[in-house]
Amino acid sequence: MNGTAHAAIGAATGFVVANTIHTSPSTTLFLIGLGGVSGLVPDLDIDGKLREKITLSHHVIQLVAQLIGILMVIYSFFEGTGREKWLGIGIGLVMMVVSAKIKQKHMLTLTGIGVLAGGFSLQEMWLILLGIYMIIASLVPHRSYTHSILGVIFFWVIASKLEASLGMDGVFYTCILGYISHLIADLKILPCNKRGIKLFLPLSSIEL
Ligand SMILES: [Zn+2]
Repeated sequence: MNGTAHAAIGAATGFVVANTIHTSPSTTLFLIGLGGVSGLVPDLDIDGKLREKITLSHHVIQLVAQLIGILMVIYSFFEGTGREKWLGIGIGLVMMVVSAKIKQKHMLTLTGIGVLAGGFSLQEMWLILLGIYMIIASLVPHRSYTHSILGVIFFWVIASKLEASLGMDGVFYTCILGYISHLIADLKILPCNKRGIKLFLPLSSIEL
């Protein structure tokens, strides 16, 4: 399944969550966007060890990195104070520029390090964990750990910290359901998938 389909399914998931808990129109829009991003997150591993799909993967990763850079600038501007605020904005801007410039495979590792640094400077646990997630995703093979139960658990923690930080209902469910929707869409039983996912890594490398 390609990036656009994953983003669309994730966005639809966010819409369903918003409608289920009856959010305001602005929160609904935010959850739709958040669902779209969450639906793309497992494929951050495409930067790792995949060559065949490099064009698509590069664009997806570039898009995600730039979105995160933009969100970081906005978030730091409204939520940060003093030195952290400008540091966060600076790191977000650097991420946007760097992700637009660097075209090689280590872009995601660098972006992950940037997110990690941003998380420490803003003292946001979800951002720190997201940075660690991105660094790991950039190093493991495609459709491995990010497409496993372990990946879901890691993202589960990120999502719960993000919801606590934003204080917004529906954030956790949108993130986690968007993520899980990606794994379901990547299952081998679907005719559009040549490969499945290794859900039980590292215990078993059986492909589902
Ligand atoms: Zn995938």
